[in-house]
Amino acid sequence: MTGEGSEKDRTGLDYEALSRRYAEERTKRLRPDAVRQYQALEGEFAGFDADPNASQNFRRDPVEREADVLVIGGGYGGLLTAAQLRKRGVDGIVMVEKGSDFGGTWYWNRYPGVRCDVESYIYVPLLEETGFVPSERYAKGAEIQQQCRLIAEKFDLYRGALFQTIAQRLTWSDADRRWLATTDRGDRISARFVVAATGLYSSPKLPGIPGIEAFEGPSFHTSRWDYDFTGGSADGDLAGLHDKTVGIIGTGSTGIQCVPPVARSAKHLYLFQRTPASVDVRGNRPTDVEWFRSQQPGWQHERMLNFTQWTSGLPQAVDMVADSMTDLFREKSLAAGVEMSPEERERAEIAKMERVRQRVDAIVKDRQTAEALKPYFHYFCKRPGFSDNYLQVFNRSNVTLVDTAGKGVEEVTPKGLVVAGREYDLDCIIYATGFDFMTSFTRESGLSIEGRGGRSLEEKWSNGAHTLYGMQTRDFPNFFVLSIVQAGTSINYLHTADAQSRYMAELIDHCLRNELATVEPTQEAEDEWVEQCVALSADRLAFFEKCTPSYFNFEGARPRAFELNSPYGGGPLAYFGALEEEIHRRFAGSLEFGG
Ligand code: NDP
Repeated sequence: MTGEGSEKDRTGLDYEALSRRYAEERTKRLRPDAVRQYQALEGEFAGFDADPNASQNFRRDPVEREADVLVIGGGYGGLLTAAQLRKRGVDGIVMVEKGSDFGGTWYWNRYPGVRCDVESYIYVPLLEETGFVPSERYAKGAEIQQQCRLIAEKFDLYRGALFQTIAQRLTWSDADRRWLATTDRGDRISARFVVAATGLYSSPKLPGIPGIEAFEGPSFHTSRWDYDFTGGSADGDLAGLHDKTVGIIGTGSTGIQCVPPVARSAKHLYLFQRTPASVDVRGNRPTDVEWFRSQQPGWQHERMLNFTQWTSGLPQAVDMVADSMTDLFREKSLAAGVEMSPEERERAEIAKMERVRQRVDAIVKDRQTAEALKPYFHYFCKRPGFSDNYLQVFNRSNVTLVDTAGKGVEEVTPKGLVVAGREYDLDCIIYATGFDFMTSFTRESGLSIEGRGGRSLEEKWSNGAHTLYGMQTRDFPNFFVLSIVQAGTSINYLHTADAQSRYMAELIDHCLRNELATVEPTQEAEDEWVEQCVALSADRLAFFEKCTPSYFNFEGARPRAFELNSPYGGGPLAYFGALEEEIHRRFAGSLEFGG
């Protein structure tokens, strides 16, 4: 750091000391088993994966279907793609979804307090087309799921949809120029195109704490909330917990949302913390309906773009969203009037985190608890959190923060959890421990995919993804993936999904209209994109190498897949531009079409 003394004088922050502290906190949390510390909800833990929102007795006969496009996944990614296809007149769409309705992440995540952490006016898609008015600035999960259903109704996507059905295997036939998909219900779907929109956070994980299976009381993952046990609803009032001692493990975005309602209802809540979250001001408020209705056509896209520009460090004349997500960039960029340098950005992040720590001091009364709740890592090492009622719960007498000093819970016993040799007796354990993310597409999606000549996608991507624009891969014709791997992503993922769904729908429609039987990237285009992704991932990797472990950096490990399974380092705006350019060129150049 240059000019250390003067920097400290000007801002009051000792950047060197903070950097040292960040590095120490990181080292405390590094573990040799990295991502292997977690386990999937399968095998002996398959019971954790049961869908509490659907009848377990649902039975139906297997079906045989012919489709132009098979869309796997009924969350926003799949819905948007299908809606864009419908807008272009594509009729033969079959959607396959594991849940009993549309919604994806908003179908599964019904835990108390669940809300969108991005402003709903830019997150909830197709607002203009569906006429949906979010009731609040940061909408509740149930409301968002309702809007998913509305999209499905508006674009006639319930027709032919197969719910409570898991697509398992995809096999390409060069002779038929079609995919054959089979499902866990014995269905056979023959499709010209397949879109795998299986979600970013669709594969919940449990910590590999010894003894998990031995706990005698109820325990569940937040994405499979057991309201039969807790009572109440996503709005809280969990009457079943009034006489219960509850343990929650995890303080990520989910943990900070579900802790306040549990704290209000439980006899006692023990929150087991490994790394404190950054928790900034939320500032939720009801939608000003008059303002909302006065917006001009095209407003939502303009607002989305404005947010992505700001959060990419590109100052604009106005900050339309102007919330805790954009303020980090706003102050610095407006002052400078130009794009921030990496060093300015880092300093801005450190200053922001200092304000987050000061906020803990201002709210939490017990000094020791306040110290334990202060995050010491770069702001973007983890997904930033926002809440106006999380830190406040630590002033309640029925809430105890069990800080594990970066080590995590040691053991699950039949009666509770063990930290630092002390056993905490619990009636219930709730795992807010997140999702398998960007480690392996085939594992996360559960799909076994055989492309041309029986080539397996799992094998092709065994050391990381090889794609064009993160969506297509050679030797797997007419196959598309919606993901942020090798794709430029906004903090508002729905902006990315919007751009990708338009691209896919344009390309599929182009093939259908022009009777082009197959499309896949040329080898050169794929190699060039992968090379670009690797070259542009250097800064991101260097940043995350300094970060405290999380799913963003493979828990501090650095496998080769990290370079390849990263978002496109050129940023979302360059990425969206590249997709637009392809559409404009009518896909000439990077793709190979078969007649
Ligand atoms: P995360 O992966 O962010 O958090 C998991 C938590 O579990 C961490 O606090 C982790 O600690 C903790 N943990 C794991 N193992 C142990 C252990 N052995 N002992 C103690 N603690 C442990 O998962 P989330 O579900 O919170 O969030 C996942 C993503 O989902 C978010 O990043 C966000 O993108 C998305 N999300 C979005 C929301 C929205 O509003 N749009 C709302 C909720 C989630 P550690 O930090 O030390 O690893």
